[in-house]
Amino acid sequence: MQSSGSASSKRERDRRYNKRRPFSHTWYKQPEWCHPISGRRALQLKAEPNCRMCAKAGIVKPGRNVDHIERHGGDPVKFWQGALQTLCDHHHNSVKQSMERKPRLTIGSDGWPV
Ligand SMILES: [Zn+2]
Repeated sequence: MQSSGSASSKRERDRRYNKRRPFSHTWYKQPEWCHPISGRRALQLKAEPNCRMCAKAGIVKPGRNVDHIERHGGDPVKFWQGALQTLCDHHHNSVKQSMERKPRLTIGSDGWPV
């Protein structure tokens, strides 16, 4: 069995994967996002301090989560320029959960998607 080379090609694959990986997790730490006065997050919370989804239900509830209305998916233009909304913890969690559920398929007992 020729096994030499497989390790380096795996490393190569990993490096390519890391290169492709969105940097959004570091964007959230940049002052342009998280600066307490001039960051996008602070400006959004100042402009819209209450949860938008609660407001639709006629409830006034302060929110502390700044959410991208359109999922940025690692796209810097969407991340830095996309529209934002303020959400409370409850609605922020429910939005994130419904997003994560969407692409998942339910597999039936016969092994096929339901
Ligand atoms: Zn809410």
